[in-house]
Amino acid sequence: MRSVDAHLAEILATVRPLAPLELELERALGTTLAEDVSSPVPLPPFDNSAMDGYAVRAEDVPGTLPVIDDVAAGSDELRAVGPGHAVRIMTGAPMPAGADSVVPVEWTDGGTVSVLINRDVPVGNAIRRAGEDVQAGEVVLKAGTVIGPAQLGIIAGVGRRRVWVRPQPRVVVISTGAELVEPGTPLGRGQIWDSNSFTLTAAVREAGAEGFRAGSVGDDPAVLLDQLDTHLMRADAIITSGGVSMGAYEPVKEALSPLGTVRFEKVAMQPGMPQGFGVLGDDRVPIFALPGNPVSSFVSFMLFVRPALDKMRGLPTGTATVTARVTGALRSPSGRRSFLRGVLASDGTVAPVHRQGSHQLAALASANALIVVPEDVTEVPDGAAVEVIRL
Ligand code: AMP
Ligand code: MG
Repeated sequence: MRSVDAHLAEILATVRPLAPLELELERALGTTLAEDVSSPVPLPPFDNSAMDGYAVRAEDVPGTLPVIDDVAAGSDELRAVGPGHAVRIMTGAPMPAGADSVVPVEWTDGGTVSVLINRDVPVGNAIRRAGEDVQAGEVVLKAGTVIGPAQLGIIAGVGRRRVWVRPQPRVVVISTGAELVEPGTPLGRGQIWDSNSFTLTAAVREAGAEGFRAGSVGDDPAVLLDQLDTHLMRADAIITSGGVSMGAYEPVKEALSPLGTVRFEKVAMQPGMPQGFGVLGDDRVPIFALPGNPVSSFVSFMLFVRPALDKMRGLPTGTATVTARVTGALRSPSGRRSFLRGVLASDGTVAPVHRQGSHQLAALASANALIVVPEDVTEVPDGAAVEVIRL
């Protein structure tokens, strides 16, 4: 059997970061910056008012001053503020020459012809200085940053319309199994509803990639090959579930083994021992052939597919763990790394869920963590420290 680490290492040695492309800002959310973004100008570009109020010379207040002009945000023709004068000014409007402070409207009678200001104002009050957010030429985001809403904001804020990014990988998810029917349709004898394609497509999206659920192809290797042919055009990666174990009617194994570019292995883990991985087509699109049991396919996704998607996005690939104290004893098969489902609590304990079968999807849905038991450990006593992967 192959170790979990060796299997992951092969996957990470095979997948490549996606090539950068230039995208409109509207399409850049969730992508990874492939360039350093800097600002061509200082931000703010000019000194401006931080409040609605009056631009004055601080030495002239308190007192009653004539209001000689009104400046709104966006104004470009400004009268200078002479001694003893005030200009009514709005938040974001440029500071007129001559003025050295802004008196908030709340400190005044709000007059428009003349204004009564009843307290002192410090020089520089309520002025946002040019460049106090960003200097001209300053890098505001480095290559490798994932673009979220605030990152998108600063890219727009430095005037960019398009940006070089690594896109989100497009991942097609295919279920196999003659027993599968779509949720929402009635079950016949021997049938179950297809859950893996929903789980895996959602997991892809949660991993920052685009997931496309292609549905089920039954157990016919020819139908699978046909579907792969269709989807390879638009996919950066493909995930299948089922059809990779030791029985008959294993369509993924039957369809892909002869190609010679996809290998099927037993990986020393529980759940999820049978795993296939390789590449397809001229573009060498990675394919992850995950086992069919719902818990197995999900755990396999977390361990192998998620880090691969991180690499394709140009991000670091580690799977983070935290240490917790287990409440209850655990058993694990010798020579295999176990990933037991548990509930991690805020007090630093993790409680194993009761149903640990690889088909027991409801128990997985009640868990929020995987408890990792190393290969050489077969029994973990109640209260022991364990490593945990958060889900
Ligand atoms: P297989 O790896 O194809 O032998 O499937 C192993 C187990 O997982 C069988 O009990 C299948 O019925 C089940 N299974 C396979 N695919 C799915 C799926 N898409 N949704 C739910 N269960 C599945
Ligand atoms: Mg099957």
